[in-house]
Amino acid sequence: MKSFYVKTFGCQMNENDSERIVAVLRRQGMTPALSADVADVVVFNTCTIRENADNRFFGQVNMLRERRVREPGMRIVVAGCLAQGEKDAIFDRAPHVDVVVGTHAIGSIADLLERSDEERHVIDVSIGDGSIDPMVDLVPEPAEGHKAWVTIQTGCDNNCAFCIVPQVRGPEVSRPFGAIVDEVRRLAEQGISEVTLLGQNVNSYGRDLTKRLRRTSDGIHDHGFLAGPVYVSDGIRRIRPLFSDLLRAVSGVDGIRRVRFTSPHPKDMREETFAAMAESPAVCESLHFPLQSGSDRVLAAMHRGYRGERFFEKLELARSIIPDLAVTTDIIVGFPGETEDEFEATLELVARCEFDSAFTFIYSPRPGTEAGAWTDKFVDPEVIRDRFERLKLVTERSGAAKHRARVGKIEEILIDGPSKRDANVASGRTRQNKLVHLAGVDGERLRGSYLNARIVDAGAHFLHGELLGPPARGAHASC
Ligand code: SAM
Ligand code: SF4
Repeated sequence: MKSFYVKTFGCQMNENDSERIVAVLRRQGMTPALSADVADVVVFNTCTIRENADNRFFGQVNMLRERRVREPGMRIVVAGCLAQGEKDAIFDRAPHVDVVVGTHAIGSIADLLERSDEERHVIDVSIGDGSIDPMVDLVPEPAEGHKAWVTIQTGCDNNCAFCIVPQVRGPEVSRPFGAIVDEVRRLAEQGISEVTLLGQNVNSYGRDLTKRLRRTSDGIHDHGFLAGPVYVSDGIRRIRPLFSDLLRAVSGVDGIRRVRFTSPHPKDMREETFAAMAESPAVCESLHFPLQSGSDRVLAAMHRGYRGERFFEKLELARSIIPDLAVTTDIIVGFPGETEDEFEATLELVARCEFDSAFTFIYSPRPGTEAGAWTDKFVDPEVIRDRFERLKLVTERSGAAKHRARVGKIEEILIDGPSKRDANVASGRTRQNKLVHLAGVDGERLRGSYLNARIVDAGAHFLHGELLGPPARGAHASC
C-alpha cells in the first residue's frame, strides 16, 4: 500500500483543493504519511499569488531532489496555481518532479501517477469548458472535525491589474446551487457545524449561469447548474439564484450553526447580501471586504471598479444593517506608480474604515499580469517598506481598539482545540472570527463545542475569556 503526503501553500481555496486531492488518493487505496520525507507520493499544492510563494515552493521541492534520485519508485506531484501558470518552469527548475497537474485537473491525478511509470514528465493543465460541476465526485469524505470549506465558485472574471488568479484559475464558474446545498447537508450530517463558502468573488455567484444560458441555443433547458427551470425564492421567479439566496439556503441546513464566506468583491456587493446576512441567524457577523488602496487613481489603475468613497459607503451600509459586524480587509502597498500622496489617501481611508484587522501585502510583480509589465513605474523597495510599516501602525491601532471594545462582552466561542502553545488553554473563535484563549479549559475534550465566555482581556491578535460556568460533562457541539 502506497503512502502520500500533501503540502499546501496559499489560500483557503488551495486548502480545500488539497482535501480533494487527499480524497482522490485515498480512493486509490493510498494512506496518509506523517511527512514528505517518508511518503511514496509527495504532492505540492502550490500558490503563485506573490513571488515569495513561488520561492518557498522551489526551496522545498528541491530538498527532495536527492531522495527522488535515490528512490526510483517515489513520485513528486506539483498541483495548484503555480503548476497551472508555470508548468514548463517547474520541469526546468525542478526536473526531478514527475507530474504537473493544473487547478482544474485534480480528478486525473491517479491516472497521471499511473502514466508516470512509463513517461518521465507527465502534465495535465487542461481547463474544462464549465459545462459540468468541476467538483463533482471530488467532495472530500468523510468530513473531519467541526468546520469545513465549501467551494461555491471557481475562477474569476475580473481583471485586477496586479492579479494572476484569472490566468491560473480560469473563468468564473459557479457550482450548481443544489449541489452546494447538498454538500452542506452531507457535511452537517457528518458533524460539521461551521462552513465557509469559498470563491474569488463569492457575491457574483450565479452571474456566469445567466451568461451561459444566454449562449446556449435552447436557452433555459440547458442548465443543470440551476436550482430548477426558473429559480424561485420568496415567491420571486428569477433565471438564476443570487449569492443571498445561497446564504439563506445554506444557513437553513439543520445542524449548521455558523456560515462564513470569502472573498466578496466590493464592486459587486449589494444591499440584498447584507440583508441576507442580517436575516440568517447562522451567518456570522464577519465580513472580509478587500479595499486594496484608498487612492481613486490607484483603484482605477488596478481596475477595481469602485472609488474609495463608494467603498466607505458600502461599509457603512453593511454596519448599519448587520449589528456588531467585524470587518477585515486586504491592502496592497507599492502598486506601480503609487505616489506618497496616494499612499496617504490609503492611510486616511483605512483609518476612517476602522477595520478589525488587515492583511497587508507588498506589491509583487506577477509575470503575464498587466501591472507586472509596468517596470518603469515600480516603486523603490525602501519606500515600500517604509509605507508598509506606516500602514501597519494604522491597521493595528483600529484592530487593538476593536479588541478592547469586546472586553466585558459575553461571546459564543466555537472551541477549535487546545492552544498551540499551552495544552491547558483552549482556543476558539467568536462569531466575529476573533481568536479567544480560555485558560484552564480542556480544549481536546471540548473541540467542536459552543461555549459562552466573558471576554476579560484583549491582546493585539487575540482575546482572553473566562467560561461562564463549567462545561457540562461530555459537552459537545452545544452548551
Ligand atoms: N478575489 C479576492 C479579491 O478580489 O479580493 C482576492 C484574492 S487574492 C488570492 C488575495 C489578496 O492577495 C488580494 O486581495 C490582494 O490584496 C493580494 N494580491 C493579489 N495579487 C497580488 C500581488 N501581485 N502583489 C501583492 N498582493 C497581491
Ligand atoms: Fe484577483 Fe481581482 Fe479576481 Fe480577486 S477579483 S481574484 S484580486 S482578479
